Amino acid sequence: METFQTETGDTAALAGTAAAAATQDVQQRRQQQQQQQQQQQQRTRPTQGELVERALLRAPAPLIDIGANLCDRSFEKDRGAVLQRATAAGVAACVITGTCEGTSRAAAELCVSELGRQHNLYFTAGVHPHNAKGCDEGTLGTLRELARHERCVAIGECGLDFNRNFSPPEVQERWFAAQLELAEEVGLPLFLHCRDASDRFAALLAAHRRAAPGVAHCFTGGRGELESLLSLGLHIGITGWVCDDRQERGGAVLAALLPLIPDDRLLIETDCPYLTPRTIGGPSKARPQRNEPALLPHVLHLVAAARGESPERTAAVTTANALRLFRLPLKL
Ligand SMILES: [Zn+2]
Repeated sequence: METFQTETGDTAALAGTAAAAATQDVQQRRQQQQQQQQQQQQRTRPTQGELVERALLRAPAPLIDIGANLCDRSFEKDRGAVLQRATAAGVAACVITGTCEGTSRAAAELCVSELGRQHNLYFTAGVHPHNAKGCDEGTLGTLRELARHERCVAIGECGLDFNRNFSPPEVQERWFAAQLELAEEVGLPLFLHCRDASDRFAALLAAHRRAAPGVAHCFTGGRGELESLLSLGLHIGITGWVCDDRQERGGAVLAALLPLIPDDRLLIETDCPYLTPRTIGGPSKARPQRNEPALLPHVLHLVAAARGESPERTAAVTTANALRLFRLPLKL
């Protein structure tokens, strides 16, 4: 019995080893196949540039992207190509958003570089409410100095964001008020951000009436908030949010409000690298991961459709507004 058992055991063990080897073989082959498939996919998966070029719509008249975070890290490697695509799409100028001392300074340098002059780049100098907790005694000095820069066209991005409270609300309010005072002092318009804070936002703005008008960028609020911003004399910046078909994001609700914005208060922007218009790519969802100024005509077409007017008209109106609000020395 013992011998038999051992024999049987050995035989079983041998058979087991052979089976294990065969399984390993199959697994290895499967892995190799998977790797090959992945490599194939990587080769065939379109690059950012290819996806943007496929989606490229030529604007019917020159456009100005009034909110482009071109100093974001995601543009480090291909800023030249990004700007070339923007020009090809008819985006004749961009206002780069300054979101902290660092990005405001970087934007100033980019604007006066060869690339900046070639593509009509301007910038805003300010600190986003998310970054308010990083402000110190030196911050206002830096912003004041940048405000005198030949390509600085607004103070901001500044405002309040009580949605995520990355900076405590009282700290946000303190530095928002400081930037409102700076805008009054230097006479530049404001580039404003407001999320879930419309009452305090309106109160602080009303207390700084001497500040030049500005724009509430990336507006995503409801009718009451829109009316409040308009009554404060502000322009309204519309992004690809309006193309968002997900019900919880309220793109359709926003679209329904667009006819309420008077012609002389409407502006369009990408807010890139965020908010790639979700109308791009259709059901295939093959849209660029990163948004960029070249995709602004998609926002233009949606805004025009929501307002029941031609894209030509929306383009002419929004470009004229951007030139006037930011006092851009351009003939387009
Ligand atoms: Zn913003």
